[in-house]
Amino acid sequence: MQMNDVMTTIDAWAQKAPDQLAYQSETAAFTYAELKQYSDHLAYHLTDRIAPKAPVVVFGELEFEMLASFLGASKAGHAYIPIESTTPQERIELILNVAQPALIISVLPWPEKIVTEIPVLTPTELAQIFKTTAAAKPLTPVKEDENYYIIFTSGTTGVPKGVQISHKNLLSFLNWDLADFGITEKMRFLSQAPYSFDLSVMSIYPALTTGGTLVPMEKAVINDFKKLFAFLPKLDIEVWVSTPSFMDICLMEPTFDAKHVPSLKIFQFCGEELPHKTATELLKRFPHAGIFNTYGPTEATVAISQIKLTPEVLAQYDRVPIGYVKADTEVQILSEGQLVTADQIGELIIKGPSVSKGYMHNPEKTAKAFFESAGQPAYKTGDAGKMTADGLLLYDGRIDFQVKLHGFRIELEDIDHHLEKVSYVKQAAVVPKYQNHKVQQLVAYVVANENPFEKTFQLTKAIKEELAQSVMDYMIPQRFVYLDQLPRTANGKIDRKGILNEVNSK
Ligand code: AMP
Repeated sequence: MQMNDVMTTIDAWAQKAPDQLAYQSETAAFTYAELKQYSDHLAYHLTDRIAPKAPVVVFGELEFEMLASFLGASKAGHAYIPIESTTPQERIELILNVAQPALIISVLPWPEKIVTEIPVLTPTELAQIFKTTAAAKPLTPVKEDENYYIIFTSGTTGVPKGVQISHKNLLSFLNWDLADFGITEKMRFLSQAPYSFDLSVMSIYPALTTGGTLVPMEKAVINDFKKLFAFLPKLDIEVWVSTPSFMDICLMEPTFDAKHVPSLKIFQFCGEELPHKTATELLKRFPHAGIFNTYGPTEATVAISQIKLTPEVLAQYDRVPIGYVKADTEVQILSEGQLVTADQIGELIIKGPSVSKGYMHNPEKTAKAFFESAGQPAYKTGDAGKMTADGLLLYDGRIDFQVKLHGFRIELEDIDHHLEKVSYVKQAAVVPKYQNHKVQQLVAYVVANENPFEKTFQLTKAIKEELAQSVMDYMIPQRFVYLDQLPRTANGKIDRKGILNEVNSK
């Protein structure tokens, strides 16, 4: 059955199964009744407090209060912007500057050093709002083309781009996700991706619209291998949503298999290329589970294509296919502005109801990437690929300088921009080092300014420290190469392709 409203579908579970758990972490559990109560109360508060339709920031990690705040905002008609609490100050300031939110809802304490005129709702105030019974007020929830959430991604100029996802976009994704992967009511979903990464949407809304339970896996657990494996079999997760990189970590544990973790029924991967080796190993460990590779950019709402992996599929293709396009969407392959025929490589263009209206307050970048085609929004992905005659999409890398590291999307120019602002750096170009189509590390080629350091490792440490103030930790290069000048192309531009070849030929 097609869903036509996200919020009423979630709220209906508070009626049907009030005591069913919506969220269960190691230390806390919350029911659908609590989810409704918290989000209703926050919605009433917001209705009194901020201008209609103004977006709000929600600041924290994977706490239940984050979810209650997303839903509270949405019920009151506001788009929400998730920001992870570990985001560096400069990046937060850039996001606030672009988004101009009416309020910051801080689930975790807002960093004191970030001074802003935007009002901040503190964790204490928020807890009070959630718990205190408030008189019901008429609400005007987010609907149709209005923004439901805005997720900020890396931008080539160093300024993050806010991808605006509407209620209609989200519905298109959800109606597909709930139909095509064997998800049934009240399943337990792994919630591993940060909420500021749109992969998290693949856990949050499919779970909450079907009376499911979100089981967060916080960074402290993910980063502690021993704890992770002590923890995993106990979680009773049925739907696994993660990047392939996280799965690679889990596969290092030999007991991560159907015998030891029998609850796992469905695996959904997205966000980066699924290595053939990972898929093969997983299929061996969980031969009866539904293992799906899905593909899509944030701009088209999480994912737009999927394929169930079988030994036959893996035997036929040496790069794992990215799947068949969902029914309401079309993918065209363009090369030099012309549609190509089956099996020809070109840029993937996505056309359909899950395509975003564009980047928030950024008409220039929006015009470059989005256009309208026969009344449908369309998006130029920057991904290269081809389609077989029976409609299977095959991925062939990027046509620009965007990369994925552990599933996180990074524009290399974004790092260059911030690296060049570091006081010890005159010029910089960052390139990825690949192994089997996967980025292993980021390598920075740097022309350094005069500096007081005797050894290059000291200089590198100082540069990394300064860079950490403006970019996410996953954007900090692992290796630094110092040169007197960067290689140039014949027309004087930095020869990034040349550097790329050099780094990858070793
Ligand atoms: P994001 O907006 O963070 O989801 O990143 C989107 C980009 O990730 C896409 O444009 C692709 O380059 C890459 N990507 C996502 N899913 C896949 C996949 N299954 N295989 C290969 N690349 C992928």
